[in-house]
Amino acid sequence: MFSHNRRKLLQASGVLLAAGAFPLSLRAQLAAPRVVVIGGGFAGATLAKYVRMWNPKIQVTLIEPNPTHVSCILSNLVMTGAMAMTDITIRYDNLRTKYGVTIVADRAIGIDPVNRKVSTQNGTVIPYDKLVLAPGIDFDAIPGLDPAVVPHAWQAGPQTLALKGLVQSVPAGGTFLMSIPKAPYRCPPGPYERACLVADTLLRNRRAGKVIVLDANTDVVAEPHTFHTAFQTTYASVIEYHPSTTVDSVDWANKTINTNWGPIRVDAANIIPGQRAGKVVASAGLLGRDPATRWASVNPLNYESTLVPNVHVIGDSQGTGQPKSGHMANSEAKVCADALIRYFAGEAPDPAPMTNSACYSPITAKTASWLTVVFGYDAATGLMKPVPNTLAEAPSPSSEHYKDMFGWAKNLFADSFS
Ligand SMILES: Cc1cc2nc3c(=O)[nH]c(=O)nc-3n(C[C@H](O)[C@H](O)[C@H](O)COP(=O)(O)OP(=O)(O)OC[C@H]3O[C@@H](n4cnc5c(N)ncnc54)[C@H](O)[C@@H]3O)c2cc1C
Repeated sequence: MFSHNRRKLLQASGVLLAAGAFPLSLRAQLAAPRVVVIGGGFAGATLAKYVRMWNPKIQVTLIEPNPTHVSCILSNLVMTGAMAMTDITIRYDNLRTKYGVTIVADRAIGIDPVNRKVSTQNGTVIPYDKLVLAPGIDFDAIPGLDPAVVPHAWQAGPQTLALKGLVQSVPAGGTFLMSIPKAPYRCPPGPYERACLVADTLLRNRRAGKVIVLDANTDVVAEPHTFHTAFQTTYASVIEYHPSTTVDSVDWANKTINTNWGPIRVDAANIIPGQRAGKVVASAGLLGRDPATRWASVNPLNYESTLVPNVHVIGDSQGTGQPKSGHMANSEAKVCADALIRYFAGEAPDPAPMTNSACYSPITAKTASWLTVVFGYDAATGLMKPVPNTLAEAPSPSSEHYKDMFGWAKNLFADSFS
């Protein structure tokens, strides 16, 4: 992967990176380069692991406030009771012990891009040569919505269990409402998968009333064939799907959701708000001045911010148009790790990176579907674009796919964290 001959030549000539198209700070030329990563989800953990695995001379510090990562992937199966929280809770031990990543249990609160320093909530200041932000997503506020009372569960953790309790609380013949935000949001098929699983749970518990799905988009965003079929056949008696419908406010005292076509009274609700890059991306000035900008603009060759040099953004926070999935976050992290290693060796990034994504969606308690796509760099536009004929969804949900889902997730978890 690296041009070792070229690196040796440069080292021998004593001019390692002193000049040229990829200038390094003097410190980075003399001492071990320092990469600091903010956020230990699928993006940040993969990046930390792969930089260390591919070049152990680079110091990597991962700043993450939580002692473990709770995966959103498969979390809808915790909601149904098919899996336990422990099944989706991943430890950081391997990053530390196998790869020598320094883990700082803290929250990053400020970035000084001029002096290349990150400050944390506990008052630590951590210097970097290259900074990688992988803080996931932040949520829009909806008037009257308190996620502690009406959980979105779009960040797995305590809200996943709260949602499980809510689904169980729906009375016989009652109404469960869920809302889907405008794309782009985390995990394009995820909300439709959740609608199916809530309907399946209600049917299996013989409590079926209604699952009202309000979609801010004009149509199903991902796997339209799979989900339209599921809504119109398997769940025709339960799911009511309403496209182009937004939640304007919530009046939970009266269990009423106010939408663009009027109020709806419900027994339980799961409102998934609109999404944007993790807070620290905005506070670092990576969104620019336009308040409508939601995701960090980056160069997809190395994920470096187009606004702030030496700061890179990967995972759900980046705005390249690639799907916001854990699989894609893992893929972007490897492209970024490779580009950072090349940078420290005085080399240009790979000029033709490719990434890919897969999402498995349980449709019933025993069947699942899948969605996959490959992206490639288009030099003419400087954008990542879907490679023709790679966007595919399973022809129909099956028990085979359901089994495959666990093998795929196990591999992705291990490749990112172990
Ligand atoms: C129900 C559901 C199902 C899904 N299914 C799939 C699927 O089948 N396939 C798939 O590929 N993806 C799936 N996803 C999407 C996937 O979970 C996300 O795309 C993925 O988690 C994004 O990874 P990330 O590292 O960008 O963000 P995250 O996983 O959210 O990680 C961000 C990390 O940053 C930390 N952080 C935030 N701010 C700071 C700060 N200031 N300082 C330090 N740390 C900070 C957070 O604590 C967190 O650990 C699903 C999501 C949901 C909700």
